[in-house]
Amino acid sequence: MRFDLVVVGGGAVGASVARAARGLSVALVAGARPAAARFAPDDFEGRVYALSPGSVEFLRAIRVWDAIPPDRLTPVHAMRVFGDDRAASMTFDAYDSGVAELAWIVEDRVLQEALWRALDAQDGLEIFAPARCEAIALGDSARITLDDGRMLEADLVVGADGAESFVRAAAGIAAREIPYGQTAVIANFACERPHGNTAFQWFQGGPILALLPLPGDRVSMVWSVAPERAAELMALDADALGRSVCEASKSKLGAITALCPPQAYPLRRITASRMVLPHLALAGDAAHVVHPLAGQGLNLGLQDAQSLGAILTGRPPVRGPGDYLLLRRYERERGEAILAMRAAVHGLHSLFGAAGPAARRLRNAGLNLTDRMPVLKNALLRHALR
Ligand SMILES: Cc1cc2nc3c(=O)[nH]c(=O)nc-3n(C[C@H](O)[C@H](O)[C@H](O)COP(=O)(O)OP(=O)(O)OC[C@H]3O[C@@H](n4cnc5c(N)ncnc54)[C@H](O)[C@@H]3O)c2cc1C
Repeated sequence: MRFDLVVVGGGAVGASVARAARGLSVALVAGARPAAARFAPDDFEGRVYALSPGSVEFLRAIRVWDAIPPDRLTPVHAMRVFGDDRAASMTFDAYDSGVAELAWIVEDRVLQEALWRALDAQDGLEIFAPARCEAIALGDSARITLDDGRMLEADLVVGADGAESFVRAAAGIAAREIPYGQTAVIANFACERPHGNTAFQWFQGGPILALLPLPGDRVSMVWSVAPERAAELMALDADALGRSVCEASKSKLGAITALCPPQAYPLRRITASRMVLPHLALAGDAAHVVHPLAGQGLNLGLQDAQSLGAILTGRPPVRGPGDYLLLRRYERERGEAILAMRAAVHGLHSLFGAAGPAARRLRNAGLNLTDRMPVLKNALLRHALR
């Protein structure tokens, strides 16, 4: 079976690459097909994403965004960041910044469902699911062997198969992996006071607590803590977990009640040494994994999909989608944005994790100072809105 493009990985990034490559003949190899879901009004998933306005625009362009039920989307109108000395804080406000919203919060399964509904209706797309890619041979084209023995041939194979990417390893692309020494504990809560569509974040001298607004009085938590503390939080009963989060958030949202059991994700940073080879490209977590403190991992992956799709479907490529010079354009286009985001996220993580009173004074003064510098704040914001 021959295609222009084989995408390995049916997560949000792989599905978006397949959508963005409309017009080409595409095969999508996905470990699993998300179950068709009906979303109960009171049942919100703990795994949520804060999507930037740039990502939303892209999802709209590939006809996915408008298929998401509006009652599962929460606009973020403001963001409040607190330092670890009680007084330091910074506020970003959509209204002051001249944008309608800073981000949208959407559940993973809701986004996946909208993406897969669009894929099912896409002409020229063949879906192989459940299926796994088990071998790749690169030569004049890419030959992909599936776990059921079927063989696919394509001018280009895109590895969008996540942090443990099989495609990356099979192609011999090295990846640098550094553990952050933290685990993210996630869960949803009901809060006593209205969140006002504000995303809250507390830097706690190492740990980082984020509460993202969900519809009604709900919030979604990402609490990045040392692995031992994560184990303690995971072992708490619902009431005790609610009390811990209420205390850590300085009762900003009043009493907090757990709505679902917590889940834990060990955090690491992964950087692939390159994103392309002749007839092969990486996208999303397969190419780069960053700390969730800035909520930018999927946003970066969606930008990869957008950039790759535009390059592949733009001017007809002379030698086909697997042409190395064409793929190098994708790598160059993405390189700077990925590097900048990685540096910002890693820098913030190190600055707010550094021990000692001098480091503490510096970061808290920095937060207050940035809050009073509209030009700097707007520059930071412009970056986050992409
Ligand atoms: C706690 C937490 C909170 C986060 N919050 C945010 C946020 O607010 N905003 C944001 O932008 N990002 C966030 N992120 C990051 C985001 O979750 C990831 O960047 C994103 O999910 C990566 O998507 P992906 O499609 O690249 O990879 P995945 O979602 O990992 O998908 C990879 C897919 O490939 C499939 N696969 C793997 N191997 C094979 C194979 N051999 N053959 C076929 N298929 C295969 C898998 O089954 C999977 O479906 C967060 C991350 C964490 C841990």
